[in-house]
Amino acid sequence: MSKIIASAAIRGAHTLVGQAEKALSKAIEKKGKDTPVAYPNTAYYLPIIYLFLGQKVQKLGDLEESLAEAKKLLGDIPTDNLWLPYLGETLDSGVATLIAEEIIESLKYVTGPNPVNGIWLGFTDDSILRLQGIKLVDGRMPGFAAIAGCTKKNEDAVKLIRGLQERSILVFMAGNSGGKAIAEQLHEERIEMNWDTFLVPYGKEITAAVHALNFAARSAMTFGGVEPGDINAAREILTYNKNRVHAFVMAIGADPKVPKDQLIIDEKYATAAGAINFGFPVIADVNIPQILPTGICTYEHVISGIKLDEIISRAIELRGLTIKIEEIPIPVPFGAGFEGERVRKEDMYVQFGGKYTDAFELLRMKPMDKVEDGKIEVIGPEIDDMKEGGAYPLGIVVEVAGREFQEDFESVLERRIHEFISCANGIFHMGQRAIVWVRISKDAKAKGFKVKDLGEILLAKMHEEFTRIVDRVQVKIYTEEKEVKRLVDEAKEVYSTRDDKIGGMTDEDVEDFYSCTLCQSYAPNHVCIVTPQRLGLCGAYTWLDCKASFQINEHGPNEPVKKGKCIDAEKGQWENINAYIDVKSNGNLKKFNAYSIMEEPMTSCGCFECIAAVVPEANGIMIVDRDYTGMTPIGMTFSTLAGQIGGGVQMPGFTGIGKMYISSPKFISAEGGQQRIVWMSKQLKEEVAERCTALLEKMGQTDLWDKIATEENAEDPEKLVEYLSKVGHPALQMESLF
Ligand code: SF4
Ligand code: ZN
Repeated sequence: MSKIIASAAIRGAHTLVGQAEKALSKAIEKKGKDTPVAYPNTAYYLPIIYLFLGQKVQKLGDLEESLAEAKKLLGDIPTDNLWLPYLGETLDSGVATLIAEEIIESLKYVTGPNPVNGIWLGFTDDSILRLQGIKLVDGRMPGFAAIAGCTKKNEDAVKLIRGLQERSILVFMAGNSGGKAIAEQLHEERIEMNWDTFLVPYGKEITAAVHALNFAARSAMTFGGVEPGDINAAREILTYNKNRVHAFVMAIGADPKVPKDQLIIDEKYATAAGAINFGFPVIADVNIPQILPTGICTYEHVISGIKLDEIISRAIELRGLTIKIEEIPIPVPFGAGFEGERVRKEDMYVQFGGKYTDAFELLRMKPMDKVEDGKIEVIGPEIDDMKEGGAYPLGIVVEVAGREFQEDFESVLERRIHEFISCANGIFHMGQRAIVWVRISKDAKAKGFKVKDLGEILLAKMHEEFTRIVDRVQVKIYTEEKEVKRLVDEAKEVYSTRDDKIGGMTDEDVEDFYSCTLCQSYAPNHVCIVTPQRLGLCGAYTWLDCKASFQINEHGPNEPVKKGKCIDAEKGQWENINAYIDVKSNGNLKKFNAYSIMEEPMTSCGCFECIAAVVPEANGIMIVDRDYTGMTPIGMTFSTLAGQIGGGVQMPGFTGIGKMYISSPKFISAEGGQQRIVWMSKQLKEEVAERCTALLEKMGQTDLWDKIATEENAEDPEKLVEYLSKVGHPALQMESLF
């Protein structure tokens, strides 16, 4: 244990606790002890305080108790750089630091300045946590890096960040060095920062780093079953994160005006001590003192003096991250970190589709002898023959052949085109089928990216992801207007034939349903049963997807389950399905009803696209999607609801569902189907309108759709019932739900 770190960390903790105390008394003076204090959209109160102290902070006055606890954890300020032989006291002051930082950051939501400002995003709410946290837990994101400070030159910052994005490592940014933050450098270089690009700037002060740790704290509570307020929480957090969340802190750049042998400010050492409590080691480019492994950590707590261009690989080694760098022969970086990146109009070289031209993509199965593996043809102009700023037509036709390939898999593979192309840096892709929109940036063009490279990406990824079923792939890319016009109509015919086929498939048509146990990595008792008419609650797995996934990998998360004897057709219960879930839920679930919300409904893991819940006053149900942050008529926001129904337990009256299920003829048929829907969040209602109204038309209930309320009509049960009676909603006359 280095004496400098110990004394600087303890001093920094004292400084921050002092700041928190000042900020708190000012806030109380101005607003009073009863003023509510909360982060937006979380069921975990102030997560750090909740985790370590078990305290459910709701009012400013409550924070006085939190502060008192933080003070108890503070060690005495060392008079000299005294020698502390073990981490104990430093770690306690690390917890005190995090509590103080949580107080400081949460107060900003009460007294301002608003932490969500310009490039800074502030606190991460629960719905983002669920969506992104799962990726960390199940390995899609190998880990996260919390970066404090800045590099000497902007170009070094860009290089570092691109390196992390290419490896799909999530990046949190907080703090600065000498007044400059790395996020500001990236902003100057016009790099897009948000959750989709894996780049999350929390705030310019080091106190904002607490958001990375309260993200980790909630991951541990949501996915890891760590109990808040337990005296062992600190140790459990460390064990959980050490094994499941591969994160590290990067301290970049020295701070001015600190002693030569100290290099960075006390508050950063204090925050580092907080991170070490979470099992997150600190890696620095400057020569701060190192700390070797102790206790249950088998790796160093602090390593330093690492050159910037080696820092990523050292961090990866240190935390044992499993990284797959994609080797695709294109001139731009490729990785999941680029998937959500947009290409703005000013940065665009050319575009295809959108509202400007015809564009489509189609994947077809062909006989072996009709596919020459690896062949890419561009039919029409290449990018060098295109004018800057222009819009051109585009047709991407992927032809695959494979002994195990079935026509049903076409749409499953086709749907991945979006993801594959989006992962290339500087290429934007949106939509699917005949509504695609593609942009190639000036930057990508300058690096030598060609239209043909779209084919390179698809060749490589189709082979890589679908080895079991795909033997040969060839790609034809059309940029010639006449050809695209001719082919787009053919493609549309293929799409509609497919839709009729899947749309027409019923649960009665098949012998096998499919299971999905992918989410057991964090909800160990949860099983999805996916049927042709009820897709997985995450919205990502339809019956066909599961079938393809099983063919691709027999030992994967999906397998066929024979339905067996039907016990109740209306509610959706089958003998063999019951037996199967009994085993797969580890005995926690004896049976369930696929089409009921009231009686033994399906369980929910946590990644539901929507939540359906009973509104007792209205004798109906409401459906809310995860993007809706407002209040629902049952008095709970999406995130509060999500906190209550996840984790694989059965909750009559509540169920997680995929969006497509809303327009299924089997939608809660046990309770009367779509006629029970009394309220939906507006954006969700708009999104599913086309499919739902088509179904309602078939059922002769066209007028129902307009009677369903949204937040514009009501946000509480009284108003809702009033609205429903006014429009004559059928649910009010239906048999009572209870
Ligand atoms: Fe599979 Fe269900 Fe998880 Fe979706 S929610 S990944 S269908 S277990
Ligand atoms: Zn899930």
